[in-house]
Amino acid sequence: MKTLLNNIDLNEALFGNSNIGFVPTMGSLHQGHISLIKKSQKLSNKTIVSIFVNPKQFNNKEDYKKYPRDIKKDLKILKRLKVDFVYLPKIKDVYKTKNKIKIKLNKQDKILCAKYRKGHFEGVIDVMTRLTKIVNPSKIFMGEKDFQQLLLVKRYVEKNFKSKIISCKTIRDKNKIALSSRNTLLKKDDLIKVSKITKSLIIFKKKLLDKKNLNNLIFMKKKELQKKYNIKIDYLELRNTKNLKFINKIKNARIFVAYFINKVRLIDNF
Ligand code: AMP
Repeated sequence: MKTLLNNIDLNEALFGNSNIGFVPTMGSLHQGHISLIKKSQKLSNKTIVSIFVNPKQFNNKEDYKKYPRDIKKDLKILKRLKVDFVYLPKIKDVYKTKNKIKIKLNKQDKILCAKYRKGHFEGVIDVMTRLTKIVNPSKIFMGEKDFQQLLLVKRYVEKNFKSKIISCKTIRDKNKIALSSRNTLLKKDDLIKVSKITKSLIIFKKKLLDKKNLNNLIFMKKKELQKKYNIKIDYLELRNTKNLKFINKIKNARIFVAYFINKVRLIDNF
């Protein structure tokens, strides 16, 4: 495994390679990231993983500061997986040039996390278009765990570059919790709560299959979870998986949720 600490290292290492698979991450790697890496290794000649905690996508300074980081452990994992390249850029490697791509979310995009985390996706799209330009991969592997991010990045990247976005299933632990680097910030009791909420939503979605007036049932479910677990829920909504518009049937739809447990914001979709 070659460690690339700047863009000169990167250009030198990638020169002459084709069919490069790229897995962008913010580190604190877990089985979710590992599943993306394994898929890239299957579908690409070379795999490059980046670790970069992107300050621009945090709408809250405190959140950026406390974001979990464990580079030593990450490098160990990547070595064990026999990843070809790990790219560890500094802020200046990513941001020293101007991004020519105009990033402006339209009104229909300002839903779900875009509504509650102002500037977040603009930061994500900015960094992802910059990284795509720097790495120039054939394929970029991204998780359905961050579904809205996946759709937005796909739109901007595929419009401006030849790289294709490959979506990857959400990996969960044995208690159904979607793996996330942020889970390391939670205590045992919090994780038990998350598991209960997740299981309850999985069962709830199955029950919606033969029901009518789904949005009303979802509204009631939101109230129930808020009360039972004493949590703040940003949103619990049923939306079309193609364009994230509201929908009132289960086919081609997912339930999207964002909530706080002990000040840690978690998202998931089912
Ligand atoms: P992050 O390091 O959180 O920015 O995530 C890097 C990539 O891993 C993104 O494409 C995420 O969607 C993906 N990812 C994060 N958690 C999971 C998971 N539990 N299952 C699958 N992919 C995930």
